Amino acid sequence: MDNSRRDFIKLAAAAAAVGAGTLAPAQQAEAATATAIRPIPNSAADKLRLVTFAPDAKGAPRIGVVKASGRVVDIGAAAKKRGVRLAFDPSRMVSLIAGNDRALKQVMELAAASDEGPALDSVRLLPPIPHPTRNVYAVGWNYLEHFEEGQAMRATPAEVPEHPVFFSKGVHTVNGPYDPIPYDPQVSTLIDWECELAVVLGKRGRNIREAEAMNHVFGYMVINDTSARDLQLKKHGGQWFKGKSLDGHGPIGPWIIPASQLDYNNLHLITRVNGVVKQDASTKQMYFKVPRIVSELSQGLTIEPGDIIATGTPPGVGHARKPPEYMKPGDVMESEIVEIGVLRNVIQQAQA
Ligand code: MG
Repeated sequence: MDNSRRDFIKLAAAAAAVGAGTLAPAQQAEAATATAIRPIPNSAADKLRLVTFAPDAKGAPRIGVVKASGRVVDIGAAAKKRGVRLAFDPSRMVSLIAGNDRALKQVMELAAASDEGPALDSVRLLPPIPHPTRNVYAVGWNYLEHFEEGQAMRATPAEVPEHPVFFSKGVHTVNGPYDPIPYDPQVSTLIDWECELAVVLGKRGRNIREAEAMNHVFGYMVINDTSARDLQLKKHGGQWFKGKSLDGHGPIGPWIIPASQLDYNNLHLITRVNGVVKQDASTKQMYFKVPRIVSELSQGLTIEPGDIIATGTPPGVGHARKPPEYMKPGDVMESEIVEIGVLRNVIQQAQA
């Protein structure tokens, strides 16, 4: 057994204890610390990894760059030290995004010149965009195999859409890359996984042509469009909004990689639950590609810097399995895009 597997088993045991909520407060704190010990694969080390982080539990959020060395360069502090006047507010990722090429160039220069700062595993990574001002946009049925696997569960068979199917997730769904996902059995007991490529929009625009759409994409991250299937399919009339909008049901991150550094059409997505692979696919299988999604979303609808689009999930969701599978407290959900990084979230019994 390799070390990462051994670490994972230790993590899963601690996570189960935290998730069950059955421990005494002191043990709970200890187990919570253990679940926070996560072997973070140093993925995408050759790329610019933009994080929002807090140096400790009480520290204010700030923008950082994770270096290949595993150090997190605090961009605001690095600018101050070098007397650089920043074109953006270094405590707000959306300010950097809105600052466009000039802001990104400043970040790249400061990151290249610095290799000091706390170690990645000693800081708290927050959602890269902790408080989006608008709902997270999302695309449904964007992988044909996922569309087909859900067909048997529909009262009336649906037709493959001619245009992207859009819905949105409430802003309180946004959650950190390693934070727990609340589970309240009074609300839902059918919690499912949906690993997806998240597009982070840059430049503001409306009625954007497909050929111009990539000029409005700032970068990419991982999102899990975590879904409460009982709320999505039955309880509220078969709409998607409520079932996809429970608090914390949308972990994002662990960082944003600028669009120029990734091929959105060739990314490897994997979901693991308790270490078992559930989804394993490529963004090549996406039916509507990123430029088409951005273009169609923006028709008559203004997109803003920092808006997020979840681009749809591949096959392998729990709901379509035979028998169906759902997550319970203590389960560890990992959402990975190999070229970006891994989200690791424990399903946790919500406190009353
Ligand atoms: Mg989805």
